[in-house]
Amino acid sequence: MTDRAAAAGPSPERAFHIVTLGCSKNRVDSDGMDHLLRQRGMAAASRPEDAQVLIVNTCGFLGAARAESVGVIEGLLQERREDQVVIAAGCMPALGDYKRAIPDGVDRVLTTREWYKIGDVVGELFGEAETPETAGCEGMLTTFSRRDVGPSAYVKIADGCDHNCAFCTIPSIKGRQISKRPLHVIQEIVDLVAQGTKEAVLVAQDTIRYGADLGMKHGLPQLLEMIVEQVPTLPWLRMLYIYPSPLTLRMVDVMAAHDALLPYLDMPIQHADETVLRAMNRPSSVAMTRRLIDHARAKMPDVAMRTTFIVGYPGETDAQFRTLLRFVEEQEFDHVGVFTYSPEDGTPAALLADPVPAEVAVERRNALMEVQQAITLRKNRALVGRTLEVLVEALGEVEDEAGNVEPVSVGRARRHAPEVDGLVFIPGAQPVGELVKLEVVEAGPYDLWALPPEEARSRARTAVGHAAMREGRAVRRRRVPGARSRGATRPERRGGGRPVPLATRAGT
Ligand code: SF4
Repeated sequence: MTDRAAAAGPSPERAFHIVTLGCSKNRVDSDGMDHLLRQRGMAAASRPEDAQVLIVNTCGFLGAARAESVGVIEGLLQERREDQVVIAAGCMPALGDYKRAIPDGVDRVLTTREWYKIGDVVGELFGEAETPETAGCEGMLTTFSRRDVGPSAYVKIADGCDHNCAFCTIPSIKGRQISKRPLHVIQEIVDLVAQGTKEAVLVAQDTIRYGADLGMKHGLPQLLEMIVEQVPTLPWLRMLYIYPSPLTLRMVDVMAAHDALLPYLDMPIQHADETVLRAMNRPSSVAMTRRLIDHARAKMPDVAMRTTFIVGYPGETDAQFRTLLRFVEEQEFDHVGVFTYSPEDGTPAALLADPVPAEVAVERRNALMEVQQAITLRKNRALVGRTLEVLVEALGEVEDEAGNVEPVSVGRARRHAPEVDGLVFIPGAQPVGELVKLEVVEAGPYDLWALPPEEARSRARTAVGHAAMREGRAVRRRRVPGARSRGATRPERRGGGRPVPLATRAGT
């Protein structure tokens, strides 16, 4: 037992507080730690001052994200009391060099694939006996139920990556891909649906490669068919982070065959110039990428396509950037994230000569975003008058200059992934957690406004809601029990033209 923990002594009322930084995969791991600690009889505390165990699930993907992780840990260490322990988990401790950057005073470190040991670590820190509830747990094999699940939930189906993109630290942080067995994925989704979740979002570093380590030849398509068959009550199933691969063709065929598989393809392409793609160690056949896009559009005419690009990669010329610009103009994606290249220690790209000046990279990013914003606005406007299925996720309110306040509901359509794409605002209170049919009545460059079809026809909007719709004004939202606040403040757009968060990743 540590001196610090000894000062507190074992307590049945001990509570924990988890700060999650970084991506959706980290959030799932935090949910797993939350589950295991609750199994030990501990309570979750929403404020660090109310907890004895403070956990920071760090992000180590970019320098800025690591700095944020260090800052959060230092803040907790400065404020902590004698009865509190601080544990650093997640990606940062898995990076050999960066582990040294973890501030002194942290009581324990857990690497990204050790989160399932959290119960043992806490038991050890407090001098407690064995923790039989975690016996047999092992990272990707651990199936857990979540607390406070909302209408939508991420489900991590694999961890790690078998690629070696020249700019990416993930393979050195995570190691090779390991996949969760189909049975465990399905159990998790069954549990989520039983708790009211309407949308499961499958995530991994490279989702399309799911199951390769389990000997599955067509892992993701097979998994999708199993989920659809065994969880017929799940209305929405979405996949994120589909690395461009010939297997995508087969996956699209399966998607097109089932209504629950949302026609949404998130395929990071990173560039459209073959020389730059080769330097990135990415799939360099743009013809193949076009084939995947064409196939998705042919099979799913309503498909919404999201992709990400990196500009300012070492050696990227003006001509190569213009190739990318033309590709974006030609392909008319629905959602695009654009990132300026950031050299990361230990990656092959960081050793490349011919860096692009930062101001040129920013100019290229802005130029690409400008082109894309016009495309997105045009596409959104084309939706006005159409009826969409919307998952209502939260209730909020909108206020005019005179201080009049009215309720507004917030949701997403099939074409919107959580956190990164647009939202649908609906004047009035809609049932949170339900899927509703709504007619789009206004469209902005990111978000849509919609009404129940009968109201849309009569245009019976309230005065405040009408003004807000016209102006595309953001709403102040209040949290609704049972609805995750995730996305409620829209902190990130994955390069969608608004401030890009520290931990946003351009990978996969
Ligand atoms: S960018 Fe994605 S696919 Fe490439 S190495 Fe990183 S995690 Fe893997």
